[in-house]
Amino acid sequence: MNIQELDREYVAGTYARFPVTITAGKGSLVTDIDGKDYIDLTSGIAVTSFGACDDVWYKAVCEQAAKIQHMSNLFYTEPCAKLAEMLCTRTGMRKVFFSNSGAEANECAVKVARKYAADTKGPDYSTVITLKNSFHGRTITMLSATGQDHYHELFRPLTPGFVHAEPNNLEYMKVLADAHKTAAIMIECVQGEGGVVALEADYVKGVAEFARENDIALIVDEVQTGNGRSGQLYSYMNYGIQPDIVSTAKGLAGGLPLGATLLGEKVKDTLKPGDHGSTFGGNPVACAGGVSILGRIDDELLAGVRRKSEYLFGTFTGAAGIEAVTGMGLMMGLKTTKPAKDVVNACIAEGVLCLTAKDRVRLLPALNIPDDLLAKAADVIKKCCA
Ligand SMILES: *Cc1c(COP(=O)(O)O)cnc(C)c1O
Repeated sequence: MNIQELDREYVAGTYARFPVTITAGKGSLVTDIDGKDYIDLTSGIAVTSFGACDDVWYKAVCEQAAKIQHMSNLFYTEPCAKLAEMLCTRTGMRKVFFSNSGAEANECAVKVARKYAADTKGPDYSTVITLKNSFHGRTITMLSATGQDHYHELFRPLTPGFVHAEPNNLEYMKVLADAHKTAAIMIECVQGEGGVVALEADYVKGVAEFARENDIALIVDEVQTGNGRSGQLYSYMNYGIQPDIVSTAKGLAGGLPLGATLLGEKVKDTLKPGDHGSTFGGNPVACAGGVSILGRIDDELLAGVRRKSEYLFGTFTGAAGIEAVTGMGLMMGLKTTKPAKDVVNACIAEGVLCLTAKDRVRLLPALNIPDDLLAKAADVIKKCCA
């Protein structure tokens, strides 16, 4: 059996895979088993922040793997402590809990918010308000948090304690928060899986203010938007707000599984020894990858992300077959006249990998994608949309 046959036989059929087997990559180019090269505008869904096998990342990860690959969290290791310091210094948050994925980072965020609310207001203050059209992960509890019904249908009963507000409607949010004993409000500033749609600035500011006034924990899910993707280190920074809790994962370690839940002043000591844990969370190899990635998401890189983003918005806006361009930074959605899936398949045939999100074509290139590759890929996409 070839690899695709083997996979279809033995790997659970949860993914509608494209008929492409990738064997290697360097930067923003990846190669399939027949030796065909593709310009990669997916980054493993916003994971490989500096592309495939980036030299600096590779060296940092290999050096740590050669020293020690794992230790229990009952002992101290350097990469974990260093990465936590970097995250706090760059965000003004105070402490970090490390896990392995976005869903877990969100689970921790909800645990912290619920415990904080129980400590300060009472244990019945447990409701978490999320937004319709949101996506927060695949655990049963994060499916419950996710505000899209089609994720719910197959897996009832869901975890209670989540209600969903209409995005960009502050009054609706206030009504919901008053109707429930609310522990937290959780938002994505740009709804990624929901079609790459940014929330309105006034709304995000209003939600943050309302949460602060009512001592409701504000959780920002930066799993996809974080780590430079939006043109700022975290997308909330584009809105001038300060969340109480930030969850992130995807791009943080440049291609290794790592989740992080950043805790602000208010909740920094909410979790006590034994309250939460993870066997792999804070793994030294993953955290060494994280240190190497975060250290290079500096002002210059972020300015590059914004410049590339402007280029993409400019080149796609008004192009034939493209009805709308949405998103922020290098997280972009194209509403196309043709079905998004058809456009993506045509792009793949032409040597450009991109994704869909709902009815949109979704682009998530590496943050450092060279301008010439980006331009070449954009031309192919425009051709396939027309
Ligand atoms: C991908 C994603 C998640 C889930 O992350 P996993 O690592 O797959 O658990 C959660 N929230 C958002 C916004 C995401 O984009």
